[in-house]
Amino acid sequence: MKFTDVALAEPFQRALKKLKYETASPIQAEAIPVIMDGKDLIGCAQTGTGKTAAFALPMLNRLLETLPPREQPTERVRGKRVPHNKFHGPPRPIRGLILAPTRELAAQIGESLKKYGGATALKHTVVFGGVSQNPQVRDLRWGVDTLVATPGRLLDLMNQGHINLSQLEILCFDEADQMLDMGFLPALKKIVAACPDQRQTVMFSATMPPEIRELAEKWLTNPVSVQV
Ligand code: AMP
Repeated sequence: MKFTDVALAEPFQRALKKLKYETASPIQAEAIPVIMDGKDLIGCAQTGTGKTAAFALPMLNRLLETLPPREQPTERVRGKRVPHNKFHGPPRPIRGLILAPTRELAAQIGESLKKYGGATALKHTVVFGGVSQNPQVRDLRWGVDTLVATPGRLLDLMNQGHINLSQLEILCFDEADQMLDMGFLPALKKIVAACPDQRQTVMFSATMPPEIRELAEKWLTNPVSVQV
């Protein structure tokens, strides 16, 4: 499958051309049309197969299509223009969420979002533990369309009222098996409970143990299974 045959919006086509991506990898060829169709998907794929673009491109494409034309409300605090306080509600709700097990993977996904969607009006940020939350909270207050997060820090920020997932449209689990191995299941349950039931869900995992299949059954709706 050639990327030029996929109905991705112009800015993504330009980004792919610049990156010299011409042919989709096997996981991309299988997953991109399914996700672009709005269907849930469970994918078995290892790192290095191109799975990041397999979920990031259709996700960003959907979010760009449905991007609400809104101005960011600001206010003056001590002479400086800052985004409105969180209590006014984020003007740009989080509509896409990507969960990853480690800060390294989360940061890498953030870089990919920049490569693919950097030329669009879409915004994203990355939150993970082990570092100060203040810069992360500042980014969140400005509002992002897509959030990349490790489960522990995400839950912390949710509990402090910095993150609201009630407008989420698409949820993606990357390396789901590793998230379970790292003991994130309780956090994942709370995160999923905070997401609307009406959403698109995509799950990638390097292995498919019974626990992953069970979760997929609970959290995904009639998912298409892809494996490479
Ligand atoms: P991933 O498996 O998502 O970590 O991607 C592995 C590497 O392959 C990354 O450096 C991507 O930039 C690159 N890549 C992904 N898809 C393609 C493609 N269709 N053509 C060329 N390079 C790609």
